[in-house]
Amino acid sequence: SRQEKEKEKAVNVQVLLRCRPFSEDEKRNNAPKVVTCNDYQREVSVSQTIAGKQFDRVFTFDKVFGPSARQKDVYEQAIVPIVNEVLEGFNCTIFAYGQTGTGKTYTMEGDCKRTKCGSKGQLPSDAGVIPRAVKQIFDTLESQSAEYSVKVTFLELYNEEITDLLAPEELAKAPLEDKQRKPLTLMEDGKGGVLVRGLEEEIVTNGNEIFTLLERGCAKRRTAETLLNKQSSRSHSLFSITIHIKEATPEGEELIKCGKLNLVDLAGSENITRSGAREGRAREAGEINKSLLTLGRVITALVEHLGHIPYRDSKLTRLLRDSLGGRTKTCIIATVSPSVHCLEETLSTLDYAHRAK
Ligand code: ADP
Ligand code: MG
Repeated sequence: SRQEKEKEKAVNVQVLLRCRPFSEDEKRNNAPKVVTCNDYQREVSVSQTIAGKQFDRVFTFDKVFGPSARQKDVYEQAIVPIVNEVLEGFNCTIFAYGQTGTGKTYTMEGDCKRTKCGSKGQLPSDAGVIPRAVKQIFDTLESQSAEYSVKVTFLELYNEEITDLLAPEELAKAPLEDKQRKPLTLMEDGKGGVLVRGLEEEIVTNGNEIFTLLERGCAKRRTAETLLNKQSSRSHSLFSITIHIKEATPEGEELIKCGKLNLVDLAGSENITRSGAREGRAREAGEINKSLLTLGRVITALVEHLGHIPYRDSKLTRLLRDSLGGRTKTCIIATVSPSVHCLEETLSTLDYAHRAK
C-alpha cells in the first residue's frame, strides 16, 4: 500500500542538511547570511532578493544541523542507529553531498591528522563520522564475546578511474604519474556485488590500526590535491568497513553475520551544476562527473520505487550496488554554506537533496 511505501521510504533513505558556520574570510568580508536553520522544526530557509523583493524558500529534511551543531551531535543523532544496523549484518551507506568548501570532508573525516584516540580512549571533538563509526564498531565488538573480523578499503574515484588510497608505501612514493596510470578494474563477483581487482584489503584488529590507515589514505589524497589542483573537488572517496561476526544461534548452530559500512565523500556538487546540467547539456556534464549524476538517478529510482535502477551506469553506483536499495540504509548529508556568495549552489544542493527524500 501507499502508506507502507511511505514508511519504507522514510526508513531506508534519510536526508540530513548541515550548514557550516561562517569561515574567517566570510566574517572578515561581512558576507550576508542567507541560510537560516531551524534544527527543531527540521527546516532550512533561504532568502533571495529578486528585483528588490525578498523571497524565502523553505525546505524540510529528516534532520537539520545548523552552524552550532557539533560533530558529536551529528553523529549521535543521525549515525549511531546506522552503525548499529551494520553491526546487525546490514549494508549501509553514508554520503556527504555539497559544494566544495561547505564541510563534506570535515563532516566525514574531521581533522585527519588528529583522529587517534587520546589516552582515555576519547576522540578529539572535531573527529568526523569515519573515526566515530570506527570507535563505535570496535567498542561494540570488544564488549561482546563473539568472534569477529574487520576489513577496510579506501579508494578514490576520479574521472571514472579508481585509485587505491591504501596501496603500499612504495607505490605512494612513486611519481604521481605512475600511480595515476594504474587504474584498478571492476569485476562482478557473481553474487550481485562487485570486486575491485588489485585493491588492498586491510584486516584490522583495533580502532587505532584503522586510524593509521586513514591517516595514510588522507595524506595521499591531500598530496594529490596540491599536485593536481582541483582534482579533489572532482573526485569521490569511498571508505568501506566490512565486519564478519560469528554467532551461535539458540539452537547451537553457527551463524556468520556480515555487514558493510560505506562512507562516501562525494565530488563537489558544483561539478554537475556549473557544467551545464541545468541548461540541458547533461551529456557534457555526464562526462565531467558521471558518477555524481548517476548516483542522483539511482537514488531517485530507489525512493520512487522504479523498476529499473541504473546502477551499471557509473563506477560509483556499481561499487555500491550491494549497499544501495533492498534491505540497506542510505543516509545523505547535504552540506551548505550560510553565505550569500554561495546562494546559487546552496539552492541546487537543497533541490538535489530534497529530491532524494
Ligand atoms: P569540502 O570537503 O566540502 O570541500 P571542507 O570539509 O574541506 O569542505 O570544509 C571547508 C572548511 O570549512 C574547512 O576549513 C573546514 O574545517 C571548515 N568547516 C566545514 N564545516 C565546518 C563546521 N561544521 N564547523 C567548523 N568548521 C567547518
Ligand atoms: Mg573535501
